[in-house]
Amino acid sequence: MTDAASRPVPPAPVSAVQALALEQGAPPPLEEVRHGVWSLAFPFGDGDYSLGYLIEGSDGALTLIDPGWDDDANLDRLDAALADVGHAMEDISLVAVTHLHADHLGGADRVRRASGARLALHAAEQRALDRRAAEALEADADIARWGAPADDEEALVAAWGSGRRLPHVTADLLLADGDELPLAGRRLRAVHTPGHTAGHLCFVEPEQRLIFTGDHVLPRINPGIGLGGRTDANPLTDYLASLDRVMALDVAGADALEVCPGHEYRFVGLVERARALVDHRADRTADAVAALDALAALASSTSKAQRSTVWQVAERMSWTGGIASLHGYRLGSALAQTEWHVQALGRAGELRPSS
Ligand SMILES: [Zn+2]
Repeated sequence: MTDAASRPVPPAPVSAVQALALEQGAPPPLEEVRHGVWSLAFPFGDGDYSLGYLIEGSDGALTLIDPGWDDDANLDRLDAALADVGHAMEDISLVAVTHLHADHLGGADRVRRASGARLALHAAEQRALDRRAAEALEADADIARWGAPADDEEALVAAWGSGRRLPHVTADLLLADGDELPLAGRRLRAVHTPGHTAGHLCFVEPEQRLIFTGDHVLPRINPGIGLGGRTDANPLTDYLASLDRVMALDVAGADALEVCPGHEYRFVGLVERARALVDHRADRTADAVAALDALAALASSTSKAQRSTVWQVAERMSWTGGIASLHGYRLGSALAQTEWHVQALGRAGELRPSS
């Protein structure tokens, strides 16, 4: 889930094959990132793909970060990639997942069954997986409160609310911030970066100067926020704090790290890219302020002390292609983001409460 209202100059790719693949709209081939570290693509949907990473420990056991979308073809791709690097499925001892989205976590259980590996994810992500059914009903209540046109509401419930069909999985190993993954001869540390989802993790390998960022930091896409796992926190506030966290990583300068993202291509320049993502959010916040001010002016001119719906605020904000171009999941995400921006501004009192 992305939006692209502001377009800063994207960082230059480190991987030529990944950049070419993106241009051609085809998944890139298996590539060696460092000695014993490989990237591979897992296709999904209509020509899309995520990037997964194989990391070899000193004992020959492999960790797989993000097994991608769940289908037979991706298991075959993984099998072929393993053969290419002199390994077999049984060599995977750990599947570590950045976040619960189907293009990252989807294939985890299939790979676990095929390999006997353990599955690791952040405890908040497991909580979100366990609460999915209840959360879908809470999302239905949000949709009712948002005040979208009736035509859109049905599609919102199907794509953002109780109509969503989401698979469940139970991890073998729950990770917390700072945990080191069980990987012989390497230090691979989990960094909790909530925002995109509540239990999103990045993984840092300081010796090789690598950071695996999932969907937290991508080279060109502005990651959506709050896309899985409700918490009492505001995902926007969380996301900004998580960007600060990766900019301040204590590994010989965060900018020396090569970023291995969950989509697009590898790059160097984490700090500059994270700053651009902060700026993008600041633009959206300014947008929300302007929309709330316009609505307040309108209310005072008609002398009706009426509070606004989330929809009324959102339709005054600038969305790529306009709000009318957003439907279903994308519209749900836009409306949820609008509400979080308003809450982060401390102006939730200007919104109509649920009836
Ligand atoms: Zn995602």
